[in-house]
Amino acid sequence: MSLAVVPEHSAVPQEIAALLDDLVAKHRPSSPVGRVPPAVPHLADADPLGFGIAVASVDGAVTSAGDADAPFSIQSISKLFSLALALGNDSGGMLWNRVLREPSGTAFNSLVQLEAEQGIPRNPFINAGALVVTDFLVECLDDASGAVLAFLRALSGSERVTVDGDAAATELASSARNCALANFLADFGNLHNPVDAVLEHYIRHCSITMSCRELARAGLFLANGGAGGRGSRGAGGVLSAADTKRINSIMLTCGMYDAAGEFAYRVGLPGKSGVGGGILAVVPGRCAVSVWSPGLDAKGNSIAGTAALAELTSRTGWSIF
Ligand code: GLN
Repeated sequence: MSLAVVPEHSAVPQEIAALLDDLVAKHRPSSPVGRVPPAVPHLADADPLGFGIAVASVDGAVTSAGDADAPFSIQSISKLFSLALALGNDSGGMLWNRVLREPSGTAFNSLVQLEAEQGIPRNPFINAGALVVTDFLVECLDDASGAVLAFLRALSGSERVTVDGDAAATELASSARNCALANFLADFGNLHNPVDAVLEHYIRHCSITMSCRELARAGLFLANGGAGGRGSRGAGGVLSAADTKRINSIMLTCGMYDAAGEFAYRVGLPGKSGVGGGILAVVPGRCAVSVWSPGLDAKGNSIAGTAALAELTSRTGWSIF
């Protein structure tokens, strides 16, 4: 089935429901694929055959298929929302003195570049950069991870969105590498709060669980110039149009870490992945798409999720290129 001709009046055509069913049938793994990350032990509990996909239209409708209501650990996708919160609180433009906006070309948890580049992380989506963003939130808000959670609940319109406390505790207990990154940052003077506090807030916001339907709704403002979608609780202006444009461009260049080029080549959309197997992709002016399937490739991105998004943009013509 092809959706090459999209009606002018509808951001997402009705036929999308059949297409999403088709993607589930084709891309849901029939046996476990890839791997789950050893540094986040609780992710091994996820169903390896799980697969869900949801499309939230700027018109307000959410269409989904597969396990789109199953909650999963959003992990690094939370970095997108912590960045949006930080930018919304950064009237002085201070954050961009502490983190760059360049692709790293290295693994999301790499230490090498951070030392060579004097403690200024390449971008806010690698772990080092996200720790700086979390530190910024710890400075300006009473409860940084609680604020990220409240933000996601408001954007998704769902009180079911929660922090998995057990998951956070197991990740914290095996976070030697993130601890090393945070200590490096502190040593270079790029962390203003105690390492333990920043790490805990960072890991707590990574441990937020939500479903594909909730995540697609939460990401809608990115497709909508910073306004929440019609019919969403986030309606009425989530972020400025300028900052929304910037977040989308950082997603495109850095959202999939050292696979950002490959993702742009195959999918052609701004995207942000997490090692829980989720990906949030943005079709500017049209919709936000969330996909989840736990098996990861060597770069930490969902194998089935990326393949399904590649097919989605090929069949709909929704790539930005
Ligand atoms: N919590 C994970 C970590 O800090 C997030 C990594 C990811 O999703 N890429 O390593």
